[in-house]
Amino acid sequence: MSDTLKKYLTTDRSTRIQALHLTQAWQTGLAHQDLPPLLVSLLGELAAASVLLAGNIKFDGSVVLQLQGNGPVHLIMVECTSALDLRATAHLREGAALPADTTTLQDLLNADGQGRFMVMLDPAGRQAGTPAYQGIVPLEGDTIAAVLEHYMKHSEQLDTRLWLAADAHACAGLLLQRMPNESPATDDPRPFGHADTTWTHCTTLAGTLDRDELRATDSDTLIRRLFWEDDLLSFPAQDVRWHCPCSRERVASMLRTLGHRELEDILNEQGCVHITCNFCGQPYDFDAQDCTALFACAIDPSLAPGSDTVH
Ligand SMILES: [Zn+2]
Repeated sequence: MSDTLKKYLTTDRSTRIQALHLTQAWQTGLAHQDLPPLLVSLLGELAAASVLLAGNIKFDGSVVLQLQGNGPVHLIMVECTSALDLRATAHLREGAALPADTTTLQDLLNADGQGRFMVMLDPAGRQAGTPAYQGIVPLEGDTIAAVLEHYMKHSEQLDTRLWLAADAHACAGLLLQRMPNESPATDDPRPFGHADTTWTHCTTLAGTLDRDELRATDSDTLIRRLFWEDDLLSFPAQDVRWHCPCSRERVASMLRTLGHRELEDILNEQGCVHITCNFCGQPYDFDAQDCTALFACAIDPSLAPGSDTVH
């Protein structure tokens, strides 16, 4: 089954295994974003990582991962909520084109070595002025997985390994993580210290995985293929969906603040007010009639479409 996050634990409860495979949700997310294939891969890998990390946060809120640099790509940013609503975007530097021989993350983002990788944990309903948790490290590593693993090590997180892969069709990832307090389960006959063996065993198996296989294989098949000798404790699958909170209503409110005259100027010049969501690329068009309606509603709510005000 695609568009789900699957979670497992080894029977000694020392290693967490998570597998993610997105197709529909990922394709929906790319529908309005015109990105070159290499950038789609990087964006998808970062998106997969954000879902794998968001699957473990213990609060209602979101994980934001951001790569920022001075190469032809200015920004790659993804956000996944604890409910596994995902959105992701990448922005080329204005006027920049990807050189044909660009092959690595470093070429794309870190032309001057000043690139940064940022992780933000943002609780829902955070008070204005209260900072979200934010970790920033230099952009080191040639793949998204290497950048993440470098961050984890730097911030003294739990031992974590990631395998990530994406193209325009699918976006997938596998995460292995050492659990804290790795005392053996009481019903586990194996001696304490087995956790090291389990970790080595799991990372060795996952180490055989290549990007093509990860992209092309649904999570159930992948886990069976890698861990066919192991009994794993499995947890209910969690649905992942693409969701950007932009909407026609939000764009309408923004246009009202611009004012009637400003919109009239745009209409005279372009025939239509064309707004694109900066995050997901969703287009919103307002023609002359739509713009008139915006202000008619503002003046007299009873004229709003769908209004049930009775006079
Ligand atoms: Zn949007």
